[in-house]
Amino acid sequence: MMNDRYRMQTKVIHEGQRPDETTGAIMTPIYAVSTFAQKSPGVHSGYEYSRAANPTRSVLEECMAGLEKAHAAFAFSSGMAATDAVLNLFDKDAHMISCDDLYGGSYRLFETIRKKSSGLDVSYIDMNDLDLLRDTISPKTKAIWVETPSNPLLNIYDLELIADIAKEHGIITICDNTFASPVLQQPLLKGFDIVVHSATKYLNGHSDVIAGIVAVNDNDLAKKIAFIQKSAGAILSPFDSFLVLRGIKTLWLRIQAHCYNAQKIAEFLLTHEKINKVIYPGLDDHPGHITAKKQMNGFGGMISVYIKGDFDKAAEFAKSVKLFTLAESLGGVESLIGHPASMTHASIPRSLREKQGILDNLIRLSVGTEDPDDLIADISDALRGI
Ligand code: PLP
Repeated sequence: MMNDRYRMQTKVIHEGQRPDETTGAIMTPIYAVSTFAQKSPGVHSGYEYSRAANPTRSVLEECMAGLEKAHAAFAFSSGMAATDAVLNLFDKDAHMISCDDLYGGSYRLFETIRKKSSGLDVSYIDMNDLDLLRDTISPKTKAIWVETPSNPLLNIYDLELIADIAKEHGIITICDNTFASPVLQQPLLKGFDIVVHSATKYLNGHSDVIAGIVAVNDNDLAKKIAFIQKSAGAILSPFDSFLVLRGIKTLWLRIQAHCYNAQKIAEFLLTHEKINKVIYPGLDDHPGHITAKKQMNGFGGMISVYIKGDFDKAAEFAKSVKLFTLAESLGGVESLIGHPASMTHASIPRSLREKQGILDNLIRLSVGTEDPDDLIADISDALRGI
């Protein structure tokens, strides 16, 4: 791991990486190989079979461990595979407490697969209500799951306060750090035990890979996740590991542009007559603004807005923008627009969705790194037409 005197802008380029020992190649080669020659039975170079470890994946894993200030990190074939690997840490019938605003796919995995296959029982609560969190903890509670900023309502939860409560009860804390990336937030430094990423998003940054990361803060968890990764086998391929490593080199630069653009667009939307409400942690009126300032190095590239009107108006807006593409996902250099109720969060029952605020007129913007004034002009033109 690189020395602490180096800053994040330097670390994203060098962490875990060195010229290839045999050729001097300065970029990590793609080790497209399934197995490795052994000198004698059981004697090998540290690599025996690529499901257990692959040299390209190892460099990405070392890089992510450094960026998250983790004991170790592991690369998976998707963010959901990473999430699933973490859930494999728990015995049958475990209880977990989760924030009630979270990625719809995580909710689907918890409720429709894990509930049935391993009796996982998840209580969804407002994680800002710490008394409620305390009251929800039972002897069966094994973990607390937090997504901050959350998807799609961009709630901010106080990582340090939650970690303190969990420690009092010996409960594992897990943070889905996808929306922030380690450039903006390092949950393990706030006392969390595990970080999960959909590396598909900001880490890779170019919308051309599906990948996931788990980073852990101690050797015991590292051994367990390594065993789960090797045994269940949802590993990231050497080629995709290479792409994510390549993407991470510009992570710091991209995040600066995402944050700058999102702040400018959020401020523009704030006074727009066709917008009911803007949700962006960088705005003074965001309920989590102070906490975000405390635990993050910036407010991110995601904005959610309630359009004045119904589903049709929201759909018309989403179809009218030209630089923002109507698509699932986020965190790429290109701007995307999504309608959570019918897209990313459709797997959450309507009544629950609406209780949380995922209404038909909610639109989510993943602000890219294009010129912010071009993006504002695009939004302005589309809103004029609806
Ligand atoms: N976590 C969050 C916050 C997400 O937004 C997503 C995907 O949108 C995931 C996890 C799942 O990641 P993947 O699509 O890489 O499986």
